[in-house]
Amino acid sequence: MSIRMNEPAVTNPSSVTPQSSSASSPRDDSAADAQPSSVAKPSLRVLSPAEIAHNEAAKGTDVDSQGIPNVRGALAADPPLHPTEEFLAELKRESDALESATPQEILKWAADRFAPKFTMATAFGPEGMTILHMLSTIAPETPVFNLETGYQFKETLELRERVKERYGIEVQYKYPDTTVEEFEAEHGGPLYKTDPNRCCFERKLRVLHRAASGWHAWASAIRRDQSEDRAKAPIVGWDKKFQLVKISPLANWTKKDVWSLIFKENIPYNPLHDQGYPSIGCQACTRPVQLGEDERAGRWSGFQKTECGLHTSD
Ligand code: SF4
Repeated sequence: MSIRMNEPAVTNPSSVTPQSSSASSPRDDSAADAQPSSVAKPSLRVLSPAEIAHNEAAKGTDVDSQGIPNVRGALAADPPLHPTEEFLAELKRESDALESATPQEILKWAADRFAPKFTMATAFGPEGMTILHMLSTIAPETPVFNLETGYQFKETLELRERVKERYGIEVQYKYPDTTVEEFEAEHGGPLYKTDPNRCCFERKLRVLHRAASGWHAWASAIRRDQSEDRAKAPIVGWDKKFQLVKISPLANWTKKDVWSLIFKENIPYNPLHDQGYPSIGCQACTRPVQLGEDERAGRWSGFQKTECGLHTSD
């Protein structure tokens, strides 16, 4: 892997590469005839001094025995943001008011309220791509990052480049402490085969805790209809696990809503979705699903595990 966070400035974007919609795409028929619309391309974003300082500070943050910052999320921000009763009540009021808002309106509210301490993590799933598309016009300066575990599909990494070309948004990679080779040597082989929970903790959760430190709020791409855990997600709420405000603009959207917009706006998406992968994580822990299987049945197949722990409330 040659790309690291805090890369130097990038040059002008190349032209947009239109994407054709395959006959086997997971779209709905109503979206099939929609014509792509043109999307304005902002200039490529370079990391601001504040972002670079944030990344550097996160490396040296005091951590506990698990490598997680002792003071994290918005509590580690400058200035810090604390979940006081008054603030939580404000979030609840805002969340209720935004229940009938569009995802674009929710994102606009979030950027107005929390930028420049508003960020987003993405695994480049269809929902994340939808939010990136919206952010590209609403708040293109929003820093976005991806957890590069070292086990992601090459198609996922290529999608990061397509996002840069299409939208001028340079998604930052956030890496674990060790390379895949070092990690597997340390654990006597691929840990995902024997203890995927530990593997996800070390290569995703710990990295995410560090990456989330110093921000006041982040956007999440979850939909309420994806799982029991996600069904309880407010539009705006306090993320107890990561200790910052979590905004879920797509909470009220369905899978059909997401794919309709993808095809209507010709939003780039992972080509693996056209090959039987409705949900895509690390290559080692993702398989295509069969007709009739749950859309997350291909994740950690053979294990009692359906979430990597990023969106669960425990
Ligand atoms: S999804 Fe699999 S390979 Fe990726 S971090 Fe989790 S257990 Fe490890």
